[in-house]
Amino acid sequence: MAEPTIYEISSPGRVGFRFPACDVPETALPTGLVREDLPMPEVAELDVVRHFTNLSHLNYSIDSGIYPLGSCTMKYNPKINEDVARLPGFAYSHPLQPVETVQGNLAMMYELQQWLCEISGMAGVTLQPSAGAQGEFTGVSIIRAYHLSRGDAKRTKIIIPDSAHGTNPATSSMNGFEVVGVSTDANGNVDLDSLKSVLDDTVAGLMLTNPNTLGLFDQNVEEVVRLVHEAGGLVYGDGANLNALLGIVRPGDVGFDVMHFNLHKTFSTPHGGGGPGSGPVGVAKHLLDFLPTPVVGIIEEGDEELPPLYGFDTPKQTIGRVKAFHGQFGMIVRAYNYISMHGPDGLRDIAECAVLNANYLLARLRDTYHVPYGRHCMHEFVMEGQLDGAPDVHALDIAKRMMDYGIHPPTNYFPLIVHEALMIEPTETESKQTLDHLTDVLIKIAGEARTNPELLHAAPHNTPVGRLDEVRAAKELVLCCWLPEKI
Ligand SMILES: *Cc1c(COP(=O)(O)O)cnc(C)c1O
Repeated sequence: MAEPTIYEISSPGRVGFRFPACDVPETALPTGLVREDLPMPEVAELDVVRHFTNLSHLNYSIDSGIYPLGSCTMKYNPKINEDVARLPGFAYSHPLQPVETVQGNLAMMYELQQWLCEISGMAGVTLQPSAGAQGEFTGVSIIRAYHLSRGDAKRTKIIIPDSAHGTNPATSSMNGFEVVGVSTDANGNVDLDSLKSVLDDTVAGLMLTNPNTLGLFDQNVEEVVRLVHEAGGLVYGDGANLNALLGIVRPGDVGFDVMHFNLHKTFSTPHGGGGPGSGPVGVAKHLLDFLPTPVVGIIEEGDEELPPLYGFDTPKQTIGRVKAFHGQFGMIVRAYNYISMHGPDGLRDIAECAVLNANYLLARLRDTYHVPYGRHCMHEFVMEGQLDGAPDVHALDIAKRMMDYGIHPPTNYFPLIVHEALMIEPTETESKQTLDHLTDVLIKIAGEARTNPELLHAAPHNTPVGRLDEVRAAKELVLCCWLPEKI
């Protein structure tokens, strides 16, 4: 790393503070309390400010540039969400407080549950799960509990199309189900013949990512749902990428039985460097009794003089708790603020602009890059990162070269059904100028790939860290790259 560390800046005797003259008698510190051998940097305030400011600039973030990471919906998170989440009534409440003392918080959670129902066409929602994948786990547990409650124990399989998100099969097998794959047809839809060939009375359900990981809306979705229901299975909708559907299609109306939302994608809460996500789950009427406990409910109706009293309900056949307390409360506040800020028409605008932006990029790039499933896309699309006339250049090289132009690479090598995949999701919050810049860069890189492939193989050149051995980096993780000499 080129940046000097704060120890290298250190200079004997330099300080960033001054104590007032001592006005109490001096005494020696107890022996053994001071570690003489602990190296401490001796720096001025400005050294410290510059050191940490420079460090903070080493991170790429949505606040510094476009982040077209397909499937992840890296949209701008409005800063007003942060202010609202820090209001003392939200920030300083405790999950163990008596419900009478947190009525405002419960009213907000209740309303968010209602809004997510309204947006999705589902009958009930739990806000508990703390990520999309945990929402999936919750939803598939509900499917399991539903069949078992009917004495139907022979249903041991979950069907998953090969265009699904990778978490779907993981979720199913964690719930003890056998995963059965079905293929994708030439239009990027679930192959109906492939689906029919695996449907029988051992099928517990099907998990459908729609739009799928090709960024396409399944044109046969109603038929898929009908076929699975006819076989006695339930249909799980992976709604992590609801950004294309907001205000346009409600999964509940299409017949989905259970689904999850990703507040940290669609509803603009931070993805947060490993920090809290939030994956609420919605269910249709026949699954309400299986929701995790507790759900926020009205425990005493209000009247003209008194507001309703909110509290916690336990669904009759609940699968139990999936998360401590009540979910990622701070994320719930942010999503609530985002939805109330936009209202129904604003949510629809979000979806329309997300789809428009993705199709604009697709239209500008398709003459340069091969797009195997090339019909109109939803919020994202997948192109091949291998070009005619540049056989040795791979998706990874293109992704790394993008970093030299100050752009975060798209998702690559996913989905697996596209050769050398580059999965691009611009989101609705990017301007035409930014989209044009992204396409100009990608077109320029395609030219470089043909004339100077070595430039791409060695990229990135302008970043604090060059090309990494990603396998080694994952297997032999070094979290601290610098230690002072004496330790
Ligand atoms: C992101 C994503 C998930 C998983 O969500 P996490 O919050 O990362 O666990 C599941 N399905 C799809 C389609 C996604 O894009």
